[in-house]
Amino acid sequence: MNYARTYTGGCHCGAVRYETTTDLTHVVSCNCSICRKRGALWAFVKPEQFALRCGEDDLADYQFNRKVIHHVFCRECGIESFARGTTPDGSAMIAINVRCLDDLDVGGLALTPFDGKHL
Ligand SMILES: [Zn+2]
Repeated sequence: MNYARTYTGGCHCGAVRYETTTDLTHVVSCNCSICRKRGALWAFVKPEQFALRCGEDDLADYQFNRKVIHHVFCRECGIESFARGTTPDGSAMIAINVRCLDDLDVGGLALTPFDGKHL
């Protein structure tokens, strides 16, 4: 099944806005130290499936541990609506925080647990 469609999303205050095209069949609930606290749910897309419409200058970056993922968040409202990273093979990857997509019922998603705590 492939129901890829274009979603819009962004941070809380509206400074950061983006579009992404994804089917949301693989949404990850990670138990690592930051995802647990943020409550983020992630869908991973390629850079060509993602377009930041506004807010690049409003983003601050947070990194920890191995510093492979840029946890970018809005300076104004503090929300991490997406993150930038690389896949194990080294290609660029965008992690969409699906909780930040407009009008999406996250309760209807099948979540894939990820044991990021023990990486
Ligand atoms: Zn904001």
